[in-house]
Amino acid sequence: MVLEWEEHLLLLDAGVLFPTAEKPGVDFIVPDFEYLAERRGHMRGILLTHGHEDHIGALSYALAAAPAPVYGSRLTLGFARRRLQERGVRAELKTLRPGEPVEIGPFRVHPIRVAHSVVDSLALAIETPAGVVLASGDFKIDAQAKSEERTDVEALSEWGNRGVLALLSDSTNVEMPGLTDGEESVLPAFEEVLARTRGRVLVSCFATSIPRIQNVARLAATAGRPVAFLGRRMIDNTETALDLGLLQLGGISRLDPAALGDGFASRALVFVSGSQGEPLSALSMISLGEHRDVAAGPGDTVVLSARAIPGNERGVSRLISNLFRLGCDVVHPGTARVHVSGHGNRDDLVELLQRTRPRYLVPVHGEYRMLAQHARLAAQAGLPADRVLVAEDGDVLSLCANGARRETRVAAGRLLLDRGGASEIEDLVVRDRRHLSSEGIVVPIVVVDRQTGQLESPPEIVTRGIVDSAAAAELVEEASRILTGAMDGRPVEERLDSELTRERVRDELRRFYKRRTQRRPMVIPVVMEV
Ligand SMILES: [Zn+2]
Ligand SMILES: [Zn+2]
Repeated sequence: MVLEWEEHLLLLDAGVLFPTAEKPGVDFIVPDFEYLAERRGHMRGILLTHGHEDHIGALSYALAAAPAPVYGSRLTLGFARRRLQERGVRAELKTLRPGEPVEIGPFRVHPIRVAHSVVDSLALAIETPAGVVLASGDFKIDAQAKSEERTDVEALSEWGNRGVLALLSDSTNVEMPGLTDGEESVLPAFEEVLARTRGRVLVSCFATSIPRIQNVARLAATAGRPVAFLGRRMIDNTETALDLGLLQLGGISRLDPAALGDGFASRALVFVSGSQGEPLSALSMISLGEHRDVAAGPGDTVVLSARAIPGNERGVSRLISNLFRLGCDVVHPGTARVHVSGHGNRDDLVELLQRTRPRYLVPVHGEYRMLAQHARLAAQAGLPADRVLVAEDGDVLSLCANGARRETRVAAGRLLLDRGGASEIEDLVVRDRRHLSSEGIVVPIVVVDRQTGQLESPPEIVTRGIVDSAAAAELVEEASRILTGAMDGRPVEERLDSELTRERVRDELRRFYKRRTQRRPMVIPVVMEV
């Protein structure tokens, strides 16, 4: 999201989207920052609300489009710094602290502490010449949390008193009733697992869930278990948090991952990355019995302390089955209270609305259905319908002291990237991959005489992914016969044009396979002239 006043632009968060199985071979998706690139000279800053991948993962791409200073809390910048180093990108990083406003061009940005599943998360009240825009970031109220971790509701109320022009509020959990539970609510389930497990306890949560890692590490120490961290992201993030003093492991005995195979590590508690079933993660390797340092089995318990992100459900389910196959016990959010959301439920959202009393509400974060339901919730809470603006990617909202309206749209797409992240995958490539994976492929090899355009020999046809091999052989023979007939019956001028020949081969085989298999395989003719 971009906030714009005259020729001054602020970017709010720069995250990645994780692809679903409908995009084979795509590893992550970033926003198309063309809009920024066209206005590079006007970029004043990039504001980060918190350190989750869906808020900071595309930072290096945003900086490449339009360099600008990056603002965020200590932990957010700590995570961002590592990502930028990995990509060899430099940026000026400026720390935001709750209660300490910063001036950026014509904007004055006030960071406000909010509770979320990663510590050091911020809402941002941005004073603009048109009024105050308050972006909640991802948040829940969590009134029971420690004072340095809970949402600063007093500050939100103060902004309500001063007057908020527009509230941009998290919609992720709008379908959940009541208030979201506090982070502490997961502890009893962990205590129970620690008490009944004879062997090791492997805990897989998001590597950004620093408060949870802190709490569970303390429980492990109380239970006399040493702790260890496994997986690159888990190790990187906990080191960053330790450096900043946001994770404290004083008095807790720690093991090196390489020592986890030793006998004395048999009761360790290991934080492992891979709660989403990512194929190359430490937990996936363990579940397949292929991890270098850790073999899990009977007596061990694996706790999946995260919900599956939509699209990852099948991978996570497979992971759980593989762990059971090894003889482990597996505890997950479907069976025990080992995860609590970092996003506010309906009552949290209403509380934010009532404290900030904005003139306009713009529901953000979440799928369209959530934005739409957030708009209804606001109406129930008393905000007139014409004060709620539901916007999608590319929509431009124009706000001023005496009104708000939707302007024309601007181009705002997404780029599909593979693991290396260097080159863009075009939509066409993804469509082809999907076509191949669902329909298979047919490659006819046709050899013709350069002088006469006559077939030199019956066409050879190679197929993959269509029918089983015995039936395929018969089909291929039949296809070759039909193709021979079609080729021989053509007028000379068509026979001598290799482009027309290719076209004809494609048409004949498409029709043939459609008729015989009800499939539409991709047909790639190879025509050789001799
Ligand atoms: Zn988040
Ligand atoms: Zn988020």
